[in-house]
Amino acid sequence: MNTSSKPRVLVLGAGFGGLELTSLLSETFGAGIDVTLIDKSDGFVFGFSKLDVMFGHKTADQVRLPYSNYAKPGVRLLRQTVTAIDPERRRVTTDAGVHEADFLVVALGADYDFDATPGLAGANEFYTVAGAERLRDVLPTFTRGRALVGVCGAPYKCPPAPSECALMLHDYLVKRGVREACEINFVLPLPSPVPPSPETSRALVSAFVERNIGFIPGRRVASIDNARKVAILDDGVKMQFDLFLGVPKHRVPDVVIASGMTENGWITVNPRTLETNYAGVYAVGDGANTGTPKAGVFAEGAARAVASDLIVKLSNSGTAKQYDGFGTCYIEFGGGRIGKVEVDFFSGPKPTGTYHEASLALRADKEHFGSSRRARWFGM
Ligand SMILES: Cc1cc2nc3c(=O)[nH]c(=O)nc-3n(C[C@H](O)[C@H](O)[C@H](O)COP(=O)(O)OP(=O)(O)OC[C@H]3O[C@@H](n4cnc5c(N)ncnc54)[C@H](O)[C@@H]3O)c2cc1C
Repeated sequence: MNTSSKPRVLVLGAGFGGLELTSLLSETFGAGIDVTLIDKSDGFVFGFSKLDVMFGHKTADQVRLPYSNYAKPGVRLLRQTVTAIDPERRRVTTDAGVHEADFLVVALGADYDFDATPGLAGANEFYTVAGAERLRDVLPTFTRGRALVGVCGAPYKCPPAPSECALMLHDYLVKRGVREACEINFVLPLPSPVPPSPETSRALVSAFVERNIGFIPGRRVASIDNARKVAILDDGVKMQFDLFLGVPKHRVPDVVIASGMTENGWITVNPRTLETNYAGVYAVGDGANTGTPKAGVFAEGAARAVASDLIVKLSNSGTAKQYDGFGTCYIEFGGGRIGKVEVDFFSGPKPTGTYHEASLALRADKEHFGSSRRARWFGM
């Protein structure tokens, strides 16, 4: 029973989507709203920071933004693990109790399905902070032989990230004077590095060619034989490696699957309003099937649309702004240069992308992308 007169909004997951949504609600309603934000972790880490950790540019502690620094009027952030979601009743069970709400937003992101790729659990991956930390310790021991950057399934988070990994690995090996003794190959299930932007894909493929990085598009790593150091692709081709750098297959967290909100593995939503099939229940970010990429910038755009809808509903005025499916991604090309692609998923009959050539100057834009969110969400 709602004993408070304030509208209750329950947001599951304090990642890109949850942090942006709760910040917007707090900015609009202040203490006039009762928002509960739940996350099982003790802090937020930008996805791109995992590459910094892996290549030893920063430590995991340096890139972690502790939730203890998150303080917004009207919002309570609770460190709890969501164990069950009842979307019909907007009722959520955690390891600490039960929460009910007038509006429920599922922003629990995507999990990794290690079991989907036999052998992956015994190999290296760079999509978790723990995996990036392990690779930071393994990379200095790699001085000769074959490195394989292998993606085990699509969709996966941040389409350009594995390309960035291959290019940054090249730089790392050059800097250590061992590049000549090493081979780099890159297996990607997509037909090109950034399908909505042929220009960006061309720039990345040229960068691979210039750096002698073997690029195998349209293939995924189906299994790994760690004893023989062989990756088997989905067409049966076997690739030897001495160092494997993997991207696991993605899926929604088990608790979301058990809630019955998914179809074909992802949460069904109206792509423009992010409403699910359940009244008063929305889903944003990597777990929601909007047709846009699994990236923070898109999670944030979807969160803005949900915030707009809630603000209109709760203030009984205005018209909600729909999700525009637009996002800007920054891409590490190596040598400190950053490329930028602006992708628009909904305006035309098919997605389009505008590429901005990689330059040293664009690094400031990428840094601003991170620092502006850090300041806005965590005041630091
Ligand atoms: C290597 C790499 C590079 C990337 N680079 C970029 C980039 O440059 N730009 C970009 O925009 N995106 C990038 N991304 C993608 C980006 O990190 C994600 O797409 C984004 O974080 C998704 O936001 P989200 O809100 O959907 O989920 P998340 O940010 O993943 O947040 C989900 C939250 O839910 C919590 N959670 C999950 N299950 C439970 C549970 N049962 N109980 C309680 N809490 C739970 C998690 O702890 C997490 O905090 C990158 C990702 C990677 C891995």
